[in-house]
Amino acid sequence: MEFYSTQNKNLRVSFKDAVFNSMPLDKGLYMPESIPRLSSRFIDQIEKYNLPEIAFEVASALLQNEIPSETLRKLIEDAVNFEAPVVKLDNSTYVLELFHGPSLAFKDFGARFMSRVMSYFLQADEPLLDVLVATSGDTGGAVALGFLGVPNTRVTILYPKGKVSPIQELQLTTNGQNIRAIEIEGTFDDCQALVKQAFADEELNLKLRLTSANSINIARLIPQTFYYFNAYAQLKRKGVEQVTFAVPSGNFGNIGAGLLAYRMGLPVKQFIAATNVNDTVPRYLESGIYQTKPSVPTYANAMDVGAPSNWVRIMDLFHNDMEAVKTMIKAYRFTDEETLNGMKAIFDKYNYIACPHTAIAYLATERYKSENKTNDETTVFLSTAHPCKFPEVFPVEMAAKIEVPAQVRDLMHKPKQSEQLAADFNVFKAYLMQF
Ligand SMILES: *Cc1c(COP(=O)(O)O)cnc(C)c1O
Repeated sequence: MEFYSTQNKNLRVSFKDAVFNSMPLDKGLYMPESIPRLSSRFIDQIEKYNLPEIAFEVASALLQNEIPSETLRKLIEDAVNFEAPVVKLDNSTYVLELFHGPSLAFKDFGARFMSRVMSYFLQADEPLLDVLVATSGDTGGAVALGFLGVPNTRVTILYPKGKVSPIQELQLTTNGQNIRAIEIEGTFDDCQALVKQAFADEELNLKLRLTSANSINIARLIPQTFYYFNAYAQLKRKGVEQVTFAVPSGNFGNIGAGLLAYRMGLPVKQFIAATNVNDTVPRYLESGIYQTKPSVPTYANAMDVGAPSNWVRIMDLFHNDMEAVKTMIKAYRFTDEETLNGMKAIFDKYNYIACPHTAIAYLATERYKSENKTNDETTVFLSTAHPCKFPEVFPVEMAAKIEVPAQVRDLMHKPKQSEQLAADFNVFKAYLMQF
């Protein structure tokens, strides 16, 4: 399978090049040259397969022989080694929990698969890969834990000192091995500026093989299709034949993967894009005018995105047919006040604690059902993170009921390992050059 740029379909590269370039020079995004359809024999019997088996089928169809079969199978078994259960709330409402991986967020699927794909392509005595990431919280943890112990790679994470949650900081700073955390005396924007400068610095690029492993990488998108198929398999065991998915959306990678799964043959009735007040896509579907805007901080901060980078992929999947996009995707936005009320409502109604991002997807399913008077339509909203990552957003009595999973409790005994640096490029560069 070759990959083209959404800006220029004649530009074709191998999977390996798409993974290491991350983005084509023309600033488009990589997409598979054709969308394979899974056989109806496989879809009809999907309930017989488990998550790694389903992942292998889907990845084989998408990648064809870019990675040898047996290698791909082992890579997936190693990358996707945790569950993604569908939990029933009532007869037509389910939640797909994507937070059972090491960083307790759905980004683990993308980061773990991408790190192993990179390591595979690096095997034949190529130089060590240096991954630089700036994080405001969630991405850094998934990337750090995704690359932890992966051969031929080294990760340097920059985060703003004092500005990530306690659990996020534990996930960034207690790893050791091939992971280094740097606390920058500054803001997230300072961290991002330092990383950008490093990529543009000639001397650094001569000495180190730098990559950003960022969220638009095609190797992060592909594994996110796996759990949509696997959710359908779980529901099919309960007699459900068609599903509506509601997805908390920021950069629109998660829902983009769902739409890719749909184009590959997954029986989906409807996608619901749920956003906070950073509502570029809901406004676009209403008005037909695509207008990005600077992001506004909200409780669901991993969705504070004013210019969703994966939207071009979605338009590409629908051959830029706006009517087709509007038919398949309904979009709703919610304020912080509504989000908080949503978190309380799920708790009161189902005794279920959902993180703010997840609560927005729940609110969107409720609104969709009431607008369309389809109370018995099977809807699944995606839970993108464990609530313990955002304790400060919950009312105290709810916060007290959040159970902290074992993988985080274990981190609490580990010493914090981090370097403190000023937000100064020369200081950062000197730090990188010494290794
Ligand atoms: C990244 C993230 C999102 C947004 O996902 P996109 O793929 O960027 O749309 C939603 N929720 C959580 C918890 C996240 O970390």
